[in-house]
Amino acid sequence: MRLSRFFLPILRETPKEAEIVSHRLMLRAGMIRQQSAGIYSWLPLGKIVLSKIEQIVREEQNRSGAIELLMPTIQSAELWRESGRYDAYGKEMLRIEDRHEREMLYGPTNEEMVTDIFRSAVRSYRDLPLNLYHIQWKFRDEVRPRFGVMRGREFLMKDAYSFDIDRERAREAYNRMFVAYLRTFDRLGLKAIPMRADTGPIGGDLSHEFIILASTGESAVFCSKDILDLPIPPDDVDFRGDLSPIVTAWTTPYAATDEMHDAAAFEALPEDKRVSARGIEVGHIFYFGTKYSGPMGANVAGPDGVEQPVHMGSYGIGVSRLMGAIIEASHDEAGIIWPESVAPFAVGLINLKTGDQKTDSVCDGLYERLTNAGVAVLFDDVDGRAGAKFATMDLIGLPWQLVVGPKGLERGEVELKRRATGERLTLSVDAAVNRLM
Ligand code: ATP
Ligand code: MG
Ligand code: MG
Ligand code: MG
Repeated sequence: MRLSRFFLPILRETPKEAEIVSHRLMLRAGMIRQQSAGIYSWLPLGKIVLSKIEQIVREEQNRSGAIELLMPTIQSAELWRESGRYDAYGKEMLRIEDRHEREMLYGPTNEEMVTDIFRSAVRSYRDLPLNLYHIQWKFRDEVRPRFGVMRGREFLMKDAYSFDIDRERAREAYNRMFVAYLRTFDRLGLKAIPMRADTGPIGGDLSHEFIILASTGESAVFCSKDILDLPIPPDDVDFRGDLSPIVTAWTTPYAATDEMHDAAAFEALPEDKRVSARGIEVGHIFYFGTKYSGPMGANVAGPDGVEQPVHMGSYGIGVSRLMGAIIEASHDEAGIIWPESVAPFAVGLINLKTGDQKTDSVCDGLYERLTNAGVAVLFDDVDGRAGAKFATMDLIGLPWQLVVGPKGLERGEVELKRRATGERLTLSVDAAVNRLM
């Protein structure tokens, strides 16, 4: 992408309304624009990153055996009356009336709808296990939308729903999601800690929140240092095998959110093992049994032919919140430092002197070679001061900067800078290309 053709509305000033660094940087880097409280447009740079996060989430869901579908954002109140949640959900639900005065709502979550889909088609234990997920916009009319996309009112969520014949099988489905989550957050460059969590209004008795430690997090969390460097399950982990040893390893060290905190158990840890911190909830998994299948009549026949309500779990990931969480975890004074897996472009190519024939032609050549090799390049081909160009590249946080100017070219050299470390290499044009491919 040539910067001259891109839409990157950078802000030089620090926006006053932004209280935390990720929100400030997303606004300054031209990634989002607020349209109403807690409702954002995703500008091109933000949209690229959002899609990359979404794709990693999708790949790991698929790897674990979950199946993607897409349910609508607008739902009918009828379904929510069946589960009893239409009245119980309260003011966070955005209620809408259509022209026929039918009560509708903008979905805050999809347990009812997916249970309805399930009951319309599945009758037997032979069709289980089943895990259906979608990645769709949600709306929750939060009392205090804040911190940008971290607590939006409209936000993108991955929500998966598992269906099993009994509690034991449902536990296996839970373990598959648990492992998929460990892998997902690791691929996003994050250290997410599974912590025992309250099940809240969704109900049930088995639940973990996946938490990123960050001083700006909204939850108080407690864990043992031992959980911080457990190994992440590899990409060939067998999702059809027994995952309980992995889950046991990750649930043995103490780790709990505020609501589930057991001060006595925590204080029994040696003092140098205790981590008491703040955290961002990026994912949440629940087993809730027959809470929805019971009242909604989602029954399946077991091997004995007897019909019984199906056992369910639900599994959320805050896809849009993750963008804020990644920036909270990875930035410096100058701006964002994207992990390679979600970086909007791999390389920022900077032409220090547009209009200089030699510099222009070397830059054009580099842009073409890298692009043809499948490397995503943002090419700063606009006329501007070097200082401003460097500041913009640091702000938007691409992993590599490739700097080309007439002085270096006299010696046949370009400069390659690694954003994360600031390390600079002076190389020939060919060596720089080889380095980036
Ligand atoms: P929170 O405690 O932050 O209000 P929640 O527990 O209400 O979140 P869940 O119902 O567990 O949220 O939804 C699954 C995931 O969706 C959360 O783990 C979080 O990552 C994300 N999420 C929830 N609410 C928001 C929001 N208002 N803005 C952005 N992401 C959100
Ligand atoms: Mg909430
Ligand atoms: Mg929560
Ligand atoms: Mg939650």
